[in-house]
Amino acid sequence: MIKSTSLWLNTTDQLANTILHAKTLNIPSPFKFSLDDWTTDSDLLLFRKRIYIPDNKDLKQQILHLFHDLPSFGHPGIFKTTSLIRQHYWWPGLTIFVKNFINGCAACQQMKINTHPTTPPLTPIPADPSALPFQSVSIDFITDLPLSNSFDSLMVIVDHDSSKGIVLCPCNKTIDALGTALLYHQNVYRRFGLPKRIISDRGPQFASHVFQTLCSRLGIKSKLSTAYHPQTDGQTERANQEIEAYLRIYCGTAPNTWAESIPDLEFSHNLQTHSVTKTSPFNIILGYNPIPIPPAIEPTNLPSLSERLRLLSTI
Ligand SMILES: [Zn+2]
Repeated sequence: MIKSTSLWLNTTDQLANTILHAKTLNIPSPFKFSLDDWTTDSDLLLFRKRIYIPDNKDLKQQILHLFHDLPSFGHPGIFKTTSLIRQHYWWPGLTIFVKNFINGCAACQQMKINTHPTTPPLTPIPADPSALPFQSVSIDFITDLPLSNSFDSLMVIVDHDSSKGIVLCPCNKTIDALGTALLYHQNVYRRFGLPKRIISDRGPQFASHVFQTLCSRLGIKSKLSTAYHPQTDGQTERANQEIEAYLRIYCGTAPNTWAESIPDLEFSHNLQTHSVTKTSPFNIILGYNPIPIPPAIEPTNLPSLSERLRLLSTI
């Protein structure tokens, strides 16, 4: 946690001093931003309601460690790390700082994810833009992981058409159709209800008579495709790549405890800005971004109830 005392107005910070000076004297902004963008709150200087970080390399690196290295974040890329930090903090040159930090991150370089595949997906599965969260989902399994809490696999459910959010359920490679349905019921149904469409490969869990009968009884379209594999569907592929890269990093140090990190991994993914929707899955589902780590000051982090209702009404 960043101690709020370390974020208190640094009187030697040139930018902070210039802004405060201009505000006190009510003279025009010396920068391209309006002075109205700057406010103060309990000794903190805020830029557009985000905490201004003074020109202090150690402090900036501390923030990067919090939003990039912690197991709960699992080394997101430059765009996602910048978006996460921007939810709370701001300083000039933030993106470049993040870029340099990540380019120098040993774990990232070792587990480099190719987020810009040169070969486009062969048969991308089109999304229905009117779908609500978890009405159209893809389900896939990451198998043969080291045994952790007696689990060796992970069921990955992606909200394919709407929020791009994920739900992760540790399981076993031998899971059958009923087991898959049960996990879905325990982890997704209770929050989002029944899906209208399930996209999957032709794995035995999905192709079985039991699963197909279950879907048809519940009015769910099951899209089983020989063509479908996460590699053919850009969105799911990216989600899976990120999860696998995270698990590789995590398992590198503690291979038998990955199952315990799954709640953090799911939370972290759902908090990060998605390149397609330009916002986080949480923001689409809840209308706000929940707090990942204790904030330096609380009032600026969550919108008021009325603001939240207004946001939800625009979705
Ligand atoms: Zn990293």
